[in-house]
Amino acid sequence: MGIKIDISERLKRLPPYLFVEIDKAKRKAIADGRDIIDLGVGDPDRPTPNFIIEALRKALRDPATHKYALDKGVPQLRIEIAKWYKKRFGVTLDPDREILPLIGSKEGIAHIPLALVNHGDVGLVPDPSYPPYNSGVIFAGGEPYKLPLLKQNSFLPDLRDIKHTILGKAKILFLNYPNNPTAAVCDNAFFKDVVRFAEKHNIAVCHDAAYSEISFDGLAAPSFLEVEGAKAVGVEFHSFSKIFNMTGWRLGFVSGNAKIIEALAKVKANVDSGVFNAIQIAGIAALRRIDKITKNVKGLYQKRRNLFIKELNKAGWKITPPRATFYVWAPVFGRYTSASLAEKILKEADVVVTPGNGFGLSGEGYVRMALTVNEASLREAARRIGRVIEK
Ligand SMILES: *Cc1c(COP(=O)(O)O)cnc(C)c1O
Repeated sequence: MGIKIDISERLKRLPPYLFVEIDKAKRKAIADGRDIIDLGVGDPDRPTPNFIIEALRKALRDPATHKYALDKGVPQLRIEIAKWYKKRFGVTLDPDREILPLIGSKEGIAHIPLALVNHGDVGLVPDPSYPPYNSGVIFAGGEPYKLPLLKQNSFLPDLRDIKHTILGKAKILFLNYPNNPTAAVCDNAFFKDVVRFAEKHNIAVCHDAAYSEISFDGLAAPSFLEVEGAKAVGVEFHSFSKIFNMTGWRLGFVSGNAKIIEALAKVKANVDSGVFNAIQIAGIAALRRIDKITKNVKGLYQKRRNLFIKELNKAGWKITPPRATFYVWAPVFGRYTSASLAEKILKEADVVVTPGNGFGLSGEGYVRMALTVNEASLREAARRIGRVIEK
């Protein structure tokens, strides 16, 4: 007999998954045996550096790692994170109160609204954006309010454009620079505005810095916490995934405001039991060599970016080179929409690109292409896309 499974209202409130069509078409193309170049997924193609794997292997042999992780995480990892923050951003953090390891930064991002948002409160979410900001707010019973990221504003939200009625109910603001999917960067002046805005309206800032170390042409992306007063209003999320090619390992951390971190830790104490100790220990090894690794990673993606943008420009698709992240946020050409162009490129060029509207309504008019395939594949992708442009 069974029961009638009625899924929760919070799941029903999630926006429809807009990548369904392109996913379906991609799977079919692969099943048909077509030679697909996938620029759709933001997952590094290169393996995790060997020394990190060796550090994990060694840690695995120590039975002490097999136990539940400590609530606050491995102390040495937090110390190492604090050292890196000081060196990289000039920011002093208390490893005990101002740093917390996460099961990937996505985990903390998705859970933090549970710590800060009440039923009916507003969460300010950029549009387009990484989907967990929006779904996290919904899961907490909050109302996402979208902040359009538009080209004419350099893909920064216009904080002055938010209505007072909304501001009165807003508890949390998500930001992400360098940005996925637009590849935009911001400077300290913007972060200063954000701090003033947060103070004035009593809003907690959650800055997602997953791409802080992937920038080009000598640019060093700032930390939100560099700005005076930032630590009093917010936190910043970091990830090992993109820098160290560790997406499957699930390791990230949050840093900044001790009260917010304590609240998030309380949520987490009730839903998970931390990151596997051996992975945290491998994370220590990773951080100790972060300078060398980031230098290589920047070089790798910068070369790919230069090649891909040059080839597409030659083919007639004028795209501004991104200054950070491994994404190219390209305006659609001709009369295409995000979806129709992505469909066309898949059908006629066997290249997967992501329609920008899948990241939110303001992503319409763009497609996102990830530089997570090798140079030969990028050259080939650009050549094939070139044929679509000519038609
Ligand atoms: C990839 C990505 C993350 C990182 O997620 P992890 O959970 O640490 O793997 C976070 N934010 C954005 C915007 C991303 O693109």
